[in-house]
Amino acid sequence: ASIALCGLVVASLAAFVVNLISREKYRLAQKVEEQTSELRYLVDHDTLTGVYNRRAFNQMFATVMEKNAPFSLVGFDIDKFKVINDKYGHAAGDAALMHVATIISEELNDGDFFARVGGDEFCILTYDTNEDILSAYVSRLIRRVSCSPVKFGRLSIDITLSAGAKPRAGESSEELMRAVDALMYSSKQAGRNCVSVGNCA
Ligand code: GH3
Ligand code: MG
Repeated sequence: ASIALCGLVVASLAAFVVNLISREKYRLAQKVEEQTSELRYLVDHDTLTGVYNRRAFNQMFATVMEKNAPFSLVGFDIDKFKVINDKYGHAAGDAALMHVATIISEELNDGDFFARVGGDEFCILTYDTNEDILSAYVSRLIRRVSCSPVKFGRLSIDITLSAGAKPRAGESSEELMRAVDALMYSSKQAGRNCVSVGNCA
């Protein structure tokens, strides 16, 4: 009887240990899964604004270029952003970047791809390729931002954007990017808070 009792105790202990190990294994696997998905998120998202980052943009840009399907590239940046940083501080500048990213994300057309590609620079890949429609779309985005000042503490900071937008017409990605940069520059020259569309750079 005592041998049987010993056996029972040993078997129970072994079962307890096995159960403990498998629960720990499950907990660790879950933690690894959580951290992997966090890393996956960080790889292609901007940590400040939560929108896609430059890496994700480059990948998506390459994909749509390869597909040869019609699309347009929109680039915009915040006007006089350095002044916002200098006047109200870097934290206010950060708040402005988050604010712009939130507003634009809310206003995007379905299926558009939106990314922060640099300091105060953002890009959109959109399937609208009619210049008039594109112009109206980007103008609407710009207006939404100019009508929604950033609230930072008790401050209300006005922000405007300057944009360039161009339907792809057989250019390479570098050529299209350069053309949109030039269009954005035209918008700056034209007094900011506007979009330039097409080939008019
Ligand atoms: P412009 O109208 O010609 O665009 O003038 P600008 O002052 O906006 O000039 P520019 O676009 O060159 O300025 C970008 C500034 O963005 C410079 C840099 O200090 C600031 N910046 C870049 N990244 C960040 C960031 O993550 N947070 C904050 N607060 N500022 C940033
Ligand atoms: Mg700027």
